[in-house]
Amino acid sequence: MPPIVFGAPMIPDPALLAALTAEALGSGWLSNGGALHMRLEQALSGQERAGDAVSLTSSGTMALLLALGLGDLPPGAEVITSPLSFAATAQAIAWCGLRPVFADVEPDTLTLCPRAVRAAITPRTAAILPVHFLGVPCDVKALAALAREYGLWLVYDAAQAYGVSFNGRPIGNYGDASAFSLHPTKVLHTGEGGYVVTRRKQAAALRRMRNFGLEGGRAVGRGLNGKMSEVNAAMGLALLPDLAAELAARAALRATYDAGLGGIAGLRLHATRSGASASPGYYALRLAPDLRARVFHALAAAGILARDHFPLLCGAGTFWADAPIMTAEGGAPLAPELGPEVLCLPLHGRVTQDAAAAIVRIVRQSVGQAGGMA
Ligand SMILES: *Cc1c(COP(=O)(O)O)cnc(C)c1O
Repeated sequence: MPPIVFGAPMIPDPALLAALTAEALGSGWLSNGGALHMRLEQALSGQERAGDAVSLTSSGTMALLLALGLGDLPPGAEVITSPLSFAATAQAIAWCGLRPVFADVEPDTLTLCPRAVRAAITPRTAAILPVHFLGVPCDVKALAALAREYGLWLVYDAAQAYGVSFNGRPIGNYGDASAFSLHPTKVLHTGEGGYVVTRRKQAAALRRMRNFGLEGGRAVGRGLNGKMSEVNAAMGLALLPDLAAELAARAALRATYDAGLGGIAGLRLHATRSGASASPGYYALRLAPDLRARVFHALAAAGILARDHFPLLCGAGTFWADAPIMTAEGGAPLAPELGPEVLCLPLHGRVTQDAAAAIVRIVRQSVGQAGGMA
């Protein structure tokens, strides 16, 4: 069996990418909202609900910066977020001149716990930045209620949640704004890129901020260069025809994993929230750390690269070494215990069903052996 990596980016048909790129070159319009950019923005808007707007950006991190910036938060204010995320989440907060405050996660979904958020709120809190961790939606209802009660700006890091819906609505429709990534490690990509979903009436303000704060050639507000180029938009457009097949392949892999990995002692699956669609981005197992290491190495020995959890964003050895993780009751936080349980299996269109069956077999074997030795 050829080696199987955890993540393999979607690769567009080179002829289609060349044709789209040629279109951009022929127009002489290489950025600043060219024709390809507009087409991709429209295609993604079609996946959101009417009433919401998609604004493309140069990266997912840029989308986070702009979504936070749209809240016009006072310098140095606190933003409550999850310690279980990719570095970009906390970096974006800090880069905006704000202070990340970490609150604990829920035990099943591993998303930000609303009760812990409530405990973390101080007079300096200005926003909440929860993460739809591995594409599992946050408790959007409780978080919206908290944001309303305390007058806080609510931005979701939806970088891992492309293609997910909750209670029948696309996940970008929750909160004041949602930031998505179009990086090659995500489901759909543009080489580098991202987008923000906002309410339609805020789209003009967001797009102005994305373009140096300019209006009529004058800077009338805060801004920077957060735009997506035509070449990047061409990549995204070139992938759209393949998207349905990619999503179907991922759903079929998920079904194979679900069928083979359910009901095994010592092995849990990362639970999604009731009402949510399954994430096309990730398939995560939860194993005690020693067992997780055993499964990881058994897969690696067969040429299959699974992926570890992200290291915690705060605590010893991190940029936020002294930041505590706030909990609802003030006890020990769950995140440091539960984060290291996560192991993501390969989930993309180049994993064959045969390979998925082999992955199931190896996981079952190594979990079973560990059980026998206990
Ligand atoms: C990928 C990712 C980002 C950053 O997106 P980029 O496009 O790489 O800047 C932010 N947050 C999370 C949770 C991510 O997984």
